[in-house]
Amino acid sequence: MKNGTSRGGHPRWVRVNTLQSSLDEQLANTFAKYGRKESLSEIASASSSEKVLHVDDHVPDLIALPPGTDITTTSAYKNGHVILQDKASCFPACLLDPQSLGGHVIDATAAPGNKTTHLAALMGDDAKSTDDSKRRIYAYERDKDRAQILNKMISTAKASRTVTVHNQDFLSVDPKSDAVHGVKAVLLDPSCSGSGIVGRDDGPKVQLPEKAKEKDSSKTLRRSSRKRKRAPQSPPRDSPAEQDGPQIEQTPLELDNEPSSPLESRLQALSTFQLKMVTHAMRFPSARRITYSTCSVHSEENEAVVLKALNSKIARELGWRILTRHEQVDGLRRWKTRGHHIACHIAEACIRCEKGTADGTMGFFVAGFVRDIHDEEIEA
Ligand code: SAM
Repeated sequence: MKNGTSRGGHPRWVRVNTLQSSLDEQLANTFAKYGRKESLSEIASASSSEKVLHVDDHVPDLIALPPGTDITTTSAYKNGHVILQDKASCFPACLLDPQSLGGHVIDATAAPGNKTTHLAALMGDDAKSTDDSKRRIYAYERDKDRAQILNKMISTAKASRTVTVHNQDFLSVDPKSDAVHGVKAVLLDPSCSGSGIVGRDDGPKVQLPEKAKEKDSSKTLRRSSRKRKRAPQSPPRDSPAEQDGPQIEQTPLELDNEPSSPLESRLQALSTFQLKMVTHAMRFPSARRITYSTCSVHSEENEAVVLKALNSKIARELGWRILTRHEQVDGLRRWKTRGHHIACHIAEACIRCEKGTADGTMGFFVAGFVRDIHDEEIEA
């Protein structure tokens, strides 16, 4: 069921930052005058002047407000007690489930910091601890300007006690170095085509400098644009009709072939970079869980990358496998939209969000990798 027009629009998603507040506190204060609705559809079809909200069924501490609601003038927003974050963008940190693992966590591609601060909130008790041996989040961001935005978001969210920002390329981090000793989980949300984005409502209200936006396109993308000029011209494959169609689902397994359109060429460059990032994350000796996510609708950047990562030499050597649906945290296990069937055996484990549906999310993909190892084996 489409909600883009007939159901009103895209809800404004607000995550309560549990490092500073609680859902109950926000419901009693910032949203005291809001009527609580049981269904999301009532929110999606409400106007921005209506004071109604829905508490999400899948992600803890997440609230949906009517499309276009502006909360940026509230003190809760200004003080980082609530954070604007699309529901789908909350899935990776939930799926990583850092509380259950112990150890340190890496956010490999962190700016502007929505998922970093979400991770910090999930590891909340440790953040309040003064113990030097407490768990940490190492947040990597290779772009200098975006690393500054990341720092600002972490400071507003009061996550600085847990998070250390490194303005560094994740691929340059030596997995065996002392600096990352004891890392048990990696959240990987690399640059992607962004084809699932509905609007720029997924992030802090900090305008990204134009320079930073450009840099996010990465060297890989610049290479791909050179390729694009050479590629034979054919219609782009990301029109809405084709996004839903079977053609996209069939292409990933042909990625090693010569791209036949500018879009394929770009997706090929992106997926090569994304695969490199996943296999690098797999090299951290004590890591036992990785989440991989994109805000792309294309299987080439999603299921195909997961399949290739699982088939990689490093995954086979170190025993990485897919995190099955059965093993996912409750809210995500219940999520119905699953991966495209380019490879049946992993489709059920992959989580998809379709934009423009009654789910009220942007287009998004997330999957988890897991490794069944024990601390003794790591030390050995
Ligand atoms: N996870 C972020 C959030 O939820 O707020 C969004 C991440 S955005 C999709 C990808 C980010 O990764 C960009 O800021 C980009 O500059 C950064 N990036 C890309 N390649 C990187 C690399 N090799 N090492 C570190 N950061 C990288």
